[in-house]
Amino acid sequence: MTEYLRGSCLCGGIAYKVDRKTLRGASHCYCQMCQKQHGAASGTYANFASEGFSYEKGAELVAEYHSSDHGRRGFCKVCGSTLTWRSTQSPDRIAVTLGTMEPEFGGEVRHELHPESKPHWLPKA
Ligand SMILES: [Zn+2]
Ligand SMILES: [Zn+2]
Repeated sequence: MTEYLRGSCLCGGIAYKVDRKTLRGASHCYCQMCQKQHGAASGTYANFASEGFSYEKGAELVAEYHSSDHGRRGFCKVCGSTLTWRSTQSPDRIAVTLGTMEPEFGGEVRHELHPESKPHWLPKA
């Protein structure tokens, strides 16, 4: 039986599910595009197979911003919650924001991407 991780946006208009067994790592990305889009130190995503991801409701509320020639950033048109990142270069994978998952993501975040632009105002480890 397929075991799903679930999540939703801030306004609750969008809900999604994703097949847990396709998980392939999670990362904090400190690139400046993630910082701008999330309004935060990083975008934090877990990577899954695209075919295991679907919207349970509110698919019509999802907008995608083309942040580069290949990057597509999915977010809620109503509340602005960031939901997904995908690349036209690897359409079989989709990255899903950890902060929108309910219950809390149970895995570990082992990778940091673009640490050169990690802000100095983060708490020191
Ligand atoms: Zn929303
Ligand atoms: Zn990034």
